[in-house]
Amino acid sequence: MASSTSRSEVDDDRYFFGKISSEEATGILLKEGGEGTFLVRESSSSAGNYVLSLIAEGLPLHILIRKYKEDAFFELVIEDIAPLFHGLDSLINYYCQNPVGNSTTILNRPCMGEQLPSKVRLHGSSSLLHRSTSQGNVNIVCELLKSGYKKLDEKNNNGQTALHIASMKGYAEITKMLIQASAIVEIRDEEGMVPLHLACRHNRPAIVQLLLNNGRAEIQSRATKTGNVALHEAAEHGHVDCVRILLSHGSPSRPRNTHIETPASLARKGGHHHVLNVLGAHQPPVPRYSLRNFFHGKINRYEAEKILLGCPGKKSGHFMLRLSQRVQGMYVLSLLCEDKVFNYEIAKEGDLLHIDGGPVFESVQHLIDHYVRFLDGMPCQLLYPVPPSSPCSLDLLPSQDYSRCNDGKTNSLETSPLLSSPRCQDSKTSPSNSLSSRKVNKPDIIVTDDLIDLHSPASRPQNSSQSSVSPLPSKVPSRDNLRLDLKSLSISNTSVDSTALSGNSPTMDGNRTDEIFGEIDINRLSVGDLLGNGEFGSVLRGIWLSPSGDQIDVAIKTLHNDDKVNKKNFLKEAEVMMNLNHLYIVKLVGVCHGPPVAMVQELMVMGSMLDYLLVHSDQISVDFHLSLWAAQIAEGMMYLEQKHFVHRDLAARNILLSSLTLVKISDFGLTRALGVNKDYYVASEGGKWPLKWYSPESINYGTFTHSSDVWSYGITLWEMYTFGDQPYGDLSGHEVVESLEKDERLPQPENCPDGVYKLMLRCWSYHPKKRPLFRELASIFRTKPEYVNIKPYFK
Ligand code: ADP
Ligand code: MG
Repeated sequence: MASSTSRSEVDDDRYFFGKISSEEATGILLKEGGEGTFLVRESSSSAGNYVLSLIAEGLPLHILIRKYKEDAFFELVIEDIAPLFHGLDSLINYYCQNPVGNSTTILNRPCMGEQLPSKVRLHGSSSLLHRSTSQGNVNIVCELLKSGYKKLDEKNNNGQTALHIASMKGYAEITKMLIQASAIVEIRDEEGMVPLHLACRHNRPAIVQLLLNNGRAEIQSRATKTGNVALHEAAEHGHVDCVRILLSHGSPSRPRNTHIETPASLARKGGHHHVLNVLGAHQPPVPRYSLRNFFHGKINRYEAEKILLGCPGKKSGHFMLRLSQRVQGMYVLSLLCEDKVFNYEIAKEGDLLHIDGGPVFESVQHLIDHYVRFLDGMPCQLLYPVPPSSPCSLDLLPSQDYSRCNDGKTNSLETSPLLSSPRCQDSKTSPSNSLSSRKVNKPDIIVTDDLIDLHSPASRPQNSSQSSVSPLPSKVPSRDNLRLDLKSLSISNTSVDSTALSGNSPTMDGNRTDEIFGEIDINRLSVGDLLGNGEFGSVLRGIWLSPSGDQIDVAIKTLHNDDKVNKKNFLKEAEVMMNLNHLYIVKLVGVCHGPPVAMVQELMVMGSMLDYLLVHSDQISVDFHLSLWAAQIAEGMMYLEQKHFVHRDLAARNILLSSLTLVKISDFGLTRALGVNKDYYVASEGGKWPLKWYSPESINYGTFTHSSDVWSYGITLWEMYTFGDQPYGDLSGHEVVESLEKDERLPQPENCPDGVYKLMLRCWSYHPKKRPLFRELASIFRTKPEYVNIKPYFK
């Protein structure tokens, strides 16, 4: 029987009703009747999902709650973008304080039912099992388990199960009993960590063994927040025994987390030399298959699909390796999974190879072998090599095929350089550095004619400081080239000595969050080359000596004229950035209030996407890189939307590249927060506007919404697929406005797939409501079938 009480009287989240129909739910709600009365039930029409039933604005309403990922992530399926929650309890708590969807209703009267099942909760409450595990009381745990204790996987208020606690505390006997009783091994606590992560973090080698051997723990499980695998945890904390066990169980030695850090880079930061030695001396196992078993030379995607789909039995796990016909020297792994062929480009960074930010390997053979052994984000494991019908030409075979040159034995990686990436053999890859030779239509940072003064929209702008283009240096300056020119920033003395510059400095992505966002001591900054020119001053490369002694590569945005108004406007950007913390958004390190006034940001070593599109178009694949970047930008924008900011200057020039597979949104100079319960911002100040990126309503009425950012996203896509063309060519801002009113839109770029162009056109729907949401855009690009991106690129 349902009854309802006020929210504050309810502990234990007892509003769950299992699998009841919507009619039954309506009956229960109406019995109570009040606005905000609610319950949660399992969906009967959409398996694995849940439903929030509530009374909103006087009427019963049933909203699907979608289970987002494998481990208790949920979102409400409502028209506007909804936040994602770890745990159904967190979702309900949020809507107890925030209106549901477009209504004004908040949840306040739970119908009394069952407690939410522990598997869907983030937080629970401490049970007898938690307490006795915590005390290491083997007898009580044993008795509880013997008596058929059902709530084995219940979470406490840190979101931890008994297995998390036993693993963390190193209680081997209890761990063993819990595993035997079928406790879930791949379960995450509120930090997104599984028991194996905790055992590695707390130096519990015996538990690591148990979890891997008895519990069959997934060695490559990633912690949700950091993307760390177990080896990252063990290496970061200097636990050499755990590192050894993980490596002996086949853990690849160079996985990368969401900050693109390897265990070695974490160990180096922590000064754990013994761990570094073990990692350095590690030899990967001899690959299970010879390249000849699956390497097909140069064939295209369609031929590969034909071969895989024609395999006898057509089993999931059939795989082959080929050389791309489209991109010179690029290897592609083709994999059959449930009658669908997935193609993965094998990217190169320095001498190392990887697929989509997964672990890096010296050779393509070791890379393939990793996915033969582990799923690690693939749709299925590589199980059955598909050999070519006739032996592949020896010239095409990568040189370190063990079956050919190593008698089947592995070599030390240090003494035998394995496959250099095919790109190294490609003599044609030296890129053109001349912007003007590539494009007739040179896209300026913001062309003067695109800018209008808000207060006098018809007037032509006066001289704009932004019209001067300063292309990025063609080559990123090396650390040794860094020139210390402190005087140019009128910094009188520095505690950073120049010898410090030769060390290996960590990047911002690896920085601890407790060191960011603060006031930066100018004496801890050393300044290098010019990276670009901003509206208020220059952007310089630099190194920041953090309070913990790390040297961190940074970009320093300076202010040339620091009069009061200028300084205020300049620091507004820092204020916005202080609120943001997301993988696809450039991070703020801190601010110098001066003099000199400066903003310190994470360094994006590969510069702006626009420059990269113009100069290195031969290194960019439309299917892979452009889709990946489009998805990352959309995800970053989704986050910005969740934080209620409108960007107002989304354009290719303001997307920066950290690597070929990681782009971030930058330049928050025009960004504004939306007021409480407001979904638009009306500009009230004059300023220079990038008209060619703006929606009709922004131009006509000065209103900015997430939908007007979507319009700019469409223009940014167009810049990407034209490899950096200037939108609307030489038309003036006002001519553009006229053509938009006549329903004219930018043409389809030559290399742009029809589907992507259709998306652009939807982004440029005259009516904001008809434009797609960032969430939809992200999901379209991240699931493009040809080149599926695997974790950890997407959180
Ligand atoms: P503005 O607000 O004046 O447009 P931006 O923030 O866009 O200034 O910076 C201007 C240029 O400086 C960029 O186009 C880019 O080339 C370079 N730049 C800015 N921030 C960074 C960074 N964090 N890392 C590397 N380069 C940067
Ligand atoms: Mg800019």
